[in-house]
Amino acid sequence: MMLREERERIVEFGKRLITSALTTGSGGNLSILDGARQLVAITPSGVPYPEIVAGDVVLVDLQGRAVEGKPRPSSELPLHLALYERYPQIRAVVHTHSVYATTLACLGWEIPPAHYLVGCAGRKVPVAPYATFGSPELAANLVRAIDGYQAALLANHGLVSIGASLEKAFHVAEEIEFVARVYLQAKMVGEPAILSAAEMDRVLEKFTGYGQPSAKSPS
Ligand SMILES: [Zn+2]
Repeated sequence: MMLREERERIVEFGKRLITSALTTGSGGNLSILDGARQLVAITPSGVPYPEIVAGDVVLVDLQGRAVEGKPRPSSELPLHLALYERYPQIRAVVHTHSVYATTLACLGWEIPPAHYLVGCAGRKVPVAPYATFGSPELAANLVRAIDGYQAALLANHGLVSIGASLEKAFHVAEEIEFVARVYLQAKMVGEPAILSAAEMDRVLEKFTGYGQPSAKSPS
């Protein structure tokens, strides 16, 4: 089996999407790019995460042609491929329908730095304009919106995070879901204080020092 290790990582983190409450059922999707082979391992379409085995994880080339794997790839394949094409340093894409990030996405609100952990994604979490799920328009909107960030909301849809590894992209998705929840709750009772640009400079510098990918370059 080609890319066995990457496919097993997809299976493992697919289960974690459920246990970390980042999605339900078969919502959301994950991919890893093997930079040397230029192949993408991506979750299959419509298979519940607890049931996915390594052989179900679909391998495609960067043009989206199937290389190995029986089921159909995730319907968001164009979005994953567009990110790898535009940002060749990244090695993983995580897409979730996590409840709080998705709530803000339905409001069309970007997430400002009310909590410093927004710095996992950059100075804020931007929102990509709405387009139908799985469409090339959605992929194009996201690629533009996420420029300079590690995550972006998809209006009326969910969240996408990127990273130098699946672990890093998944970590960003978890932290942004926390930040989205805190921001929404704060907005329900008052007006959250927003951190200054100078403070976010310090936060981003410390995150870089802690081994987090720089918010300035999606790597
Ligand atoms: Zn989705």
